[in-house]
Amino acid sequence: MNDCIFCKIVKGKIPTKFEWNDDKLVAFNDIKPIAPVHILIVPKKHVESLGKAKNEDVELLGKIQRIASKLAKKKGIGNAFRLLTLSGKGAGQTVFHLHYHLIGGWKDKVPEIEANKQI
Ligand code: 5GP
Ligand code: ZN
Repeated sequence: MNDCIFCKIVKGKIPTKFEWNDDKLVAFNDIKPIAPVHILIVPKKHVESLGKAKNEDVELLGKIQRIASKLAKKKGIGNAFRLLTLSGKGAGQTVFHLHYHLIGGWKDKVPEIEANKQI
């Protein structure tokens, strides 16, 4: 996708320091972090969102979780991290290339998640 910002990052068209880079995935720091550690895990393949992923993407989806766990350990948050993806405009997705937010590193108070507030 020519106009996709994450495709540009994946292809090296926007200089980015990668925390992870293999044949299937890259990971890099979010430009507007919401936690002390905030890494985006992004497949090289352009898939719009989790909701648009297909059966053929199952291995890729599994790999994202495995790499998230490895990166969390590397960043010293292996025992306390969150991994989330927003699927669709109505859920707040703003970049329409599948990505997972790996967040953590809170020292004192752990932020509530929206879902908790609605219970
Ligand atoms: P979404 O709301 O789609 O789940 O999250 C998109 C994320 O991508 C946001 O947290 C935003 O800060 C991040 N982002 C958008 N553009 C860029 C960019 O050019 N570089 C980096 N590193 N992060 C970006
Ligand atoms: Zn893309």
